[in-house]
Amino acid sequence: MAHIGDIEKACGVLRAGGLVALPTETVYGLGANAEDPVAVARIFQTKGRPPTHPLIVHIAAAEQLDEWVEEVPAAARLLARRFWPGPLTLVLRRGRRVPLEATGGLETVAVRVPDHPVALALLSAFGGGVTAPSANRFGAVSPTTVDHVRAELGDAVDFVLDGGPCEVGVESTIVDVTGENPAILRPGGVTREDLEAVLGCPVEVPATTGVRVPGQHPSHYAPRARVALVEPEKLVAEAELAQGAGYRVGVLLPPALATARVKAHAVIALPGSMHAYAQGLYGFLRDLDQYGCDLIITSLPAEEGLGSAIANRLRRAAGPRPTA
Ligand code: AMP
Ligand code: MG
Repeated sequence: MAHIGDIEKACGVLRAGGLVALPTETVYGLGANAEDPVAVARIFQTKGRPPTHPLIVHIAAAEQLDEWVEEVPAAARLLARRFWPGPLTLVLRRGRRVPLEATGGLETVAVRVPDHPVALALLSAFGGGVTAPSANRFGAVSPTTVDHVRAELGDAVDFVLDGGPCEVGVESTIVDVTGENPAILRPGGVTREDLEAVLGCPVEVPATTGVRVPGQHPSHYAPRARVALVEPEKLVAEAELAQGAGYRVGVLLPPALATARVKAHAVIALPGSMHAYAQGLYGFLRDLDQYGCDLIITSLPAEEGLGSAIANRLRRAAGPRPTA
């Protein structure tokens, strides 16, 4: 776990225009000084991420929000007060302090206060904003442990802060509060039900939200193995069929099928709680890659609460891969 000397070192790296991998409660981020366009550009190079894909600016406290955005609508104020620090990202109109490099050229900016002691210590000591996407190569599975970060980025990152395994395990919920009604751009750690309870109105989940949201691309959050989603009642038969056809099949076995015996290359029994499932999801996908699986078969969880975020990531992981 990072100590105070590490925080000071990480601050120095950020001030010098370097990149720091930092723990948050969602996933590990690859951070740079949000106000340094050259450092921000290095994030894109390091990840292999197209420069039009906007990043999230992480700040130390809700009180700093006004410094980074043009205006704070009432709904945004309410959500920030209720959910920060926490896995909620608000999209607002960009303040002058935010370079266009960090927003992928957009006039809006995504801001969040992460709920992790190491991230908060870093942000407080640094004083400014740290812009960070997940600390993985573009399109790949997000890292939820320091070992995942090292496996993804190795020496490409100047300093890595260890904050232990991530508590939430999937990325933040992104809510656009620039329009008339708040809209969820990406489901995540804060559920739609939580948002609606606080706002006292239905929150939209637009079906398609334009290509500038990387989470909306067909293939994202993807392990090396192909991912196939099947109906639960067909899962065992499909897995055995594929295994028989020569695939090395990895199965993420839903709790409802816990007693089923599946002949596959590797089987991971999914936890019953959605919290534990979200927490473990990316690690399970990485493990099946490690075991040498070339096809992962699973079924979607019920799309309510955290299940919506898990289903969203699994759908992207199963999305059509770019042809090289
Ligand atoms: P990551 O999930 O690690 O790729 O990190 C950034 C996420 O924040 C992406 O899904 C972005 O699309 C989203 N994001 C950042 N800024 C904006 C913005 N201005 N509008 C919509 N989404 C944004
Ligand atoms: Mg990402």
